[in-house]
Amino acid sequence: MNLIMLGPPGAGKGTQAKRLESAYGLVQLSTGDMLRAAVAAGTEIGKQAKAVMAAGDLVSDDIVVSIIAERIAEPDCASGFILDGFPRTVTQAEALDAMLTASNQRIDGVLEMTVDDDALVGRIAGRFSCTNCGAAYNDELNRPKVENVCDLCGASAFTRRKDDNAETMGARLAAYHAQTAPLLPYYAARGVLRSVDGMADIDEVTRQLRAVVDGIGEN
Ligand code: ADP
Ligand code: ADP
Ligand code: ZN
Repeated sequence: MNLIMLGPPGAGKGTQAKRLESAYGLVQLSTGDMLRAAVAAGTEIGKQAKAVMAAGDLVSDDIVVSIIAERIAEPDCASGFILDGFPRTVTQAEALDAMLTASNQRIDGVLEMTVDDDALVGRIAGRFSCTNCGAAYNDELNRPKVENVCDLCGASAFTRRKDDNAETMGARLAAYHAQTAPLLPYYAARGVLRSVDGMADIDEVTRQLRAVVDGIGEN
């Protein structure tokens, strides 16, 4: 089963993709994580992406499509994957469809999480994540159960993203509404779009998503 998590920055895509990954044995593919790794490693792609990401704009379609094409072709993806943060433009969605069709695969479900713009700002401003496993936390909304210890892996080192600030948030939300939101009718027309209420608490969103995914799995 191949799934896409769709929603604005801070909607909970990464949080929920991680939970679905372990529940359904799928591979989570986050273009944001891949790009941050490229920036940290100082690769050619990283050099091109760095300033664009810092400004909250979208990296070029060519770059992200080539990263995903390479990753999806690896053997561990054959048993199914969850895309988190890709596609973000209709051009990327069309490229994804073309590469999947060429290998006799398809997208089985696009899981949209709806969250009010006002709530997103607080989620992003307070976000931090485990340096070891990437689990996302929040200063106000989702602290680790034991202070300074990751719930998932037990590590005690956490990081904050440079682009998680009020200045870039406007650009990131504008990019979502202008360039990514057109994916909603794109996937609705293909009969694969499913929406859940992303304003609910984290466990409740997981419950709703699992009900949706179980339904997809039965088809
Ligand atoms: P995305 O991958 O869509 O950008 P994340 O999964 O990183 O979003 O979540 C953004 C922030 O909001 C994190 O700090 C996370 O802990 C918090 N968060 C995620 N889901 C919820 C929720 N349902 N309610 C409240 N806070 C949430
Ligand atoms: P969030 O879910 O909080 O918006 P991501 O980690 O998915 O953050 O992405 C961080 C940044 O990486 C984006 O603001 C953008 O600059 C870049 N990026 C990630 N995925 C894509 C993509 N599919 N297309 C273009 N740019 C991307
Ligand atoms: Zn961890």
